[in-house]
Amino acid sequence: MHIININQDGICDEAKFIASPNLDVRPSPDDISLIVIHNISLPPNQYGGNGVIELFTNQLNPDEHPYYAEIAHLKVSSHFFIRRDGELIQFASCNDRAWHAGASHWQGRERCNDFSIGVELEGSDFEAFEPIQYETLKTLIASIKARYPIQAITGHSDIAPGRKTDPGAYFDWSHIKT
Ligand SMILES: [Zn+2]
Repeated sequence: MHIININQDGICDEAKFIASPNLDVRPSPDDISLIVIHNISLPPNQYGGNGVIELFTNQLNPDEHPYYAEIAHLKVSSHFFIRRDGELIQFASCNDRAWHAGASHWQGRERCNDFSIGVELEGSDFEAFEPIQYETLKTLIASIKARYPIQAITGHSDIAPGRKTDPGAYFDWSHIKT
């Protein structure tokens, strides 16, 4: 397995870094034990545009699409975003708390953002992901595990049931089971 370096500042050498302002300090900086898998596409189910980058950097134009008007006020981010072509973008240091999970719980703990790393795949609940996205994801997971004491990998829908549906039924967990 190819491993990419995540340096001590929590930055991945081989990712394109685009800084999000939507982050803060983890309450327990050494507790980074969970990876949360998501899907996102903006506009919904459309790929290749700048909507997700604009959302995570508070630059989404509410006039550009009806759905943007509903979400442009949100202050959200994720540590990583994997595009359909496998490109890896990083928005927040892994050492920081990105705002990807919202109200959530995992094994009796609340606020999963406190202790997790968020990975968004460009996609939707209604379509398969690209093989190259799984390749990037597998490399990223191995790289995160080389730096942080990850105990589990879970889906957003698993930590926010009833509220979130991603990464959805098309996400094939067999790719990342170790
Ligand atoms: Zn999600």
